[in-house]
Amino acid sequence: MNKQLAFGKLPSTWRRFEELGAAKNLKAEDFYRPADNHSVQHRNGRTGEILVSHPQPDIPEKQLHARTHRSKLQLALLKEVDETRVRLSSKLVHVTQEPSGRLLLEFQEGFKDEVYLLIGADGVRSAVRTFAFPDHRISYIGRTSYRTVITAEEIATIDGVPDAVTFWHGPKSWLYTCPLGDSKFEITTMTPEPASEKEKVSWGQDATIEENSKHFEIKQYALFAGPRLKSVIAYGSIALVGDASHPLSGAFGSGAGFALEDVFVLSRAVNWAHEQNLTLQDGLRLFDQVRGPYYRDLYGVLDKFGEADQYLKNVDLGFDDAVNVQVDKKWSKKYNWIQEYNGKKCQGSEGARCAIGKKRKFHWTALENLGF
Ligand SMILES: Cc1cc2nc3c(=O)[nH]c(=O)nc-3n(C[C@H](O)[C@H](O)[C@H](O)COP(=O)(O)OP(=O)(O)OC[C@H]3O[C@@H](n4cnc5c(N)ncnc54)[C@H](O)[C@@H]3O)c2cc1C
Repeated sequence: MNKQLAFGKLPSTWRRFEELGAAKNLKAEDFYRPADNHSVQHRNGRTGEILVSHPQPDIPEKQLHARTHRSKLQLALLKEVDETRVRLSSKLVHVTQEPSGRLLLEFQEGFKDEVYLLIGADGVRSAVRTFAFPDHRISYIGRTSYRTVITAEEIATIDGVPDAVTFWHGPKSWLYTCPLGDSKFEITTMTPEPASEKEKVSWGQDATIEENSKHFEIKQYALFAGPRLKSVIAYGSIALVGDASHPLSGAFGSGAGFALEDVFVLSRAVNWAHEQNLTLQDGLRLFDQVRGPYYRDLYGVLDKFGEADQYLKNVDLGFDDAVNVQVDKKWSKKYNWIQEYNGKKCQGSEGARCAIGKKRKFHWTALENLGF
């Protein structure tokens, strides 16, 4: 996980942390939860009026939405990992499939390895994706995010910043303010910026806004995305997870949670295939069939966002009316299923359909075996 960013911890992410044993490594002071249990609020950036506040009914207390700095989560996860199996500072530069079917991995520093299963968890510019799906391309989406983390004391010097998870909307841009726990406070903006302005890269760069950078470090993130891959498995031995599988450009502010969910389903699916004496490919196919419909629906939401932007371009609305449209079309409660996902998107009749492989029939109850 990219280490500069803050992180919204969804109910499903808490569940995965609990299963991994990592939830216990996070103390109450490591993260922020609003006193009234909203997950997020959206305000008119001009008037400050709250346009929508999302409550969290029916979510167990321990799994309520929380915000924290990403390094806290990485450390919590790391405590549960056998570090002898982790190889740092190794950049994968080449993958070849050998006649035996195994994959030969070559790393920049000369290290080589042969594997039966390669999981591409290497982010938006995935080398594994480039090998598995060479025609897939990502591109700058015309929007850039600026982000910084300051102290709670510093933010206290500004009047009117609420103790809340808050988006302040303008017609085309937003500003986001949120405590992160541990006396930290996040400020992020997202704004349209033409591609020609400067060479764009997707990783966090030091932003050169002179006045602001005198006071604190700001990172800028040019947002990159690519079309949906209909399948994120290849060669019977490669699976992509997280941003490598679906470069969504941080559109939902939940990509780290999506990545953890991918990993959870993948590990269960491979284990399930093993226990059923099926092949690795069967396990990968089940993973693809469980996660595919969810991502398909996420891309559907992005299409709706695009329609909203197009609508706003075509009509001549004032600030407040444009903000109302933005919030209604992009941030209303109808999209709460994104955060509340627990695998059910692939159950019932939908599940029966999507869990049937072409060569082998997987009964949808296999999903129950995966822990949903
Ligand atoms: C501005 C912005 C704000 C966001 N806010 C949030 C948020 O609040 N909450 C949230 O959940 N998500 C947020 N996201 C999305 C989130 O950052 C990503 O979805 C998430 O980090 C994806 O995790 P990942 O592990 O798939 O990829 P990454 O976090 O990108 O991790 C990929 C890893 O692979 C390594 N790697 C890359 N190439 C190679 C190679 N060739 N060989 C070896 N290693 C390699 C990288 O060094 C990195 O460590 C945001 C994104 C952006 C841009």
